[in-house]
Amino acid sequence: EMMRRRPLVVANWKMNKLPSESAAYIDKIEKPVDQFPDVIPVLAGQDVLLPGMLHAARGTNISIGAENMYWKDQGAFTGETSPAALADLGIRYVILGHSERRNYFHETNEMVNRKAHAALQHNLIPIVAIDEAIIPRNENDRSHWVVNQVIETFEGMSAQTAKTMILAYEPTDSIGSGQAMTPEIAQFALRRIRLTLADMYNWDVAQAVRIMYGGSVKPDNAYELMIQDDIDGVLVGNAALDPDQFIALCQIA
Ligand code: PGA
Repeated sequence: EMMRRRPLVVANWKMNKLPSESAAYIDKIEKPVDQFPDVIPVLAGQDVLLPGMLHAARGTNISIGAENMYWKDQGAFTGETSPAALADLGIRYVILGHSERRNYFHETNEMVNRKAHAALQHNLIPIVAIDEAIIPRNENDRSHWVVNQVIETFEGMSAQTAKTMILAYEPTDSIGSGQAMTPEIAQFALRRIRLTLADMYNWDVAQAVRIMYGGSVKPDNAYELMIQDDIDGVLVGNAALDPDQFIALCQIA
């Protein structure tokens, strides 16, 4: 039995936009994305952009997300951002465990799990990126790596809580390379993630969790990806730096 999951289009701006640029982008997309009320548009930016993004997005249906956070609410952790601060600001979503966080800043599954728990405690919705930090040598390796990441991401999480999670499957070699995974292989990988959730919890949870694909998504390839049964949205870097492409992606979704 198919359950309807509202598709998400999430822009991951990474470290690519300035505070002075975000309002113009939001002004440009706010009316067009209103035409697609079924789609959840989310913009994620670096921390210093967030207050301005929230301000510009007030009264629109655009949600704002952070790209990372720490798992403690306060304390002597110079340079970190707390989930309490993000929630206080009015942030809805937070990307956790992006491949770049794992590869350049040594984030482990255990750290991502702590962050997910902390986010949920503040009613922030985690978008946990499932990557392939090792380039798998074969299908078995790939499968093991992905399944293990899913299991460790959800460690200690109740079924009820698990349902609110969002996952983004992002094969490392597709990020920023211009080479998206083929829709069939992406669907296969996402299906395996859903089956893993069914194994860990039950089918109800597996059907509720939204799973996105990310890695070189652009208007040209988004349709073929998004028509796959298990792909509930896209997490988009480069293409989403351009507001017109973001609008096109929402239309496709
Ligand atoms: P890309 O990035 O769309 O530029 O490949 C996706 C991501 O890293 O989230």
